Amino acid sequence: MLMLLNMSSLLKAANENNFAIPAFNTPTQMILRGAIEAAEETGTPVIIEVHPDELEFARSSFITMLVEEARKSTVPVCIHMDHGSTLSQIMTAIQCGYTSVMIDASSKPFDENVAICREVVRLAHMVNVSVEGELGTIGTTSVSQDVTSTTEIHYTEPEEAAEFVERTGVDTLAVAIGTCHGLYPKGMTPTLQLDRLRAIKKRLPIPLVLHGGSANKDEEIAEASRCGINKINISSDIKDPFYQKCREVLQDPYIREPGEIYPPCIEVMKDVMRHKFDLLGCTGKADLYDYSILRPM
Ligand SMILES: [Zn+2]
Repeated sequence: MLMLLNMSSLLKAANENNFAIPAFNTPTQMILRGAIEAAEETGTPVIIEVHPDELEFARSSFITMLVEEARKSTVPVCIHMDHGSTLSQIMTAIQCGYTSVMIDASSKPFDENVAICREVVRLAHMVNVSVEGELGTIGTTSVSQDVTSTTEIHYTEPEEAAEFVERTGVDTLAVAIGTCHGLYPKGMTPTLQLDRLRAIKKRLPIPLVLHGGSANKDEEIAEASRCGINKINISSDIKDPFYQKCREVLQDPYIREPGEIYPPCIEVMKDVMRHKFDLLGCTGKADLYDYSILRPM
């Protein structure tokens, strides 16, 4: 059975049943292995996403491996390009075998963002690849030595969001409701504007996406998953425990076999992944997919 789906097919069940599916940033085989195992062991749909910078490091043959793993997986999987910013990155993604792409032109003026997204939708939909757009700007945190800076968040407005989706035809939309990319500096407590989210969803009943959900309060993330968010990007929260454990394992000066170094690191990361599945309400939800009617990629 082919379990590789595009984002529209994957998120339909999440949107209809009010839960979210995590999109794990996956630039290495070890993280891929953890994500697929955690998903299969719990019967949970999952999104494997690879950012263009991660793709540059992993090389395009890595996507061939993702496609192969997804096709033989026992749970629904979508392969998504996170934050594509140019048409050439989008074309590369489609040629490599991604089943979904994000075009992030959110820093551009509204009409320009619309024009770029519409062109990407036109190209991607020809080959059944889904498109995620972004409206509003999610903050970025950067901590360098003693200087901590957070770029301003421009919150997504419900009316604008509806107009944007109507004019572009995007399948999903990333919204800015108060999260930032990366881990938050000490002392900063982010708060999500859940009322804004509810207002956007009421006006725009398509699957909505939350970026930068690492380190937000669990209750807030869970509530967001129940009231309109259907995909949550998770990067730092899984990479951090993986590499913390690597550091610990590598204290042994004689250890050198990958088969000895990585399994305990994958296990601690899988604990976090399972916790995210529970939080987002998607644990065991692979049952909801009627594979006989889905169009596999
Ligand atoms: Zn993002």
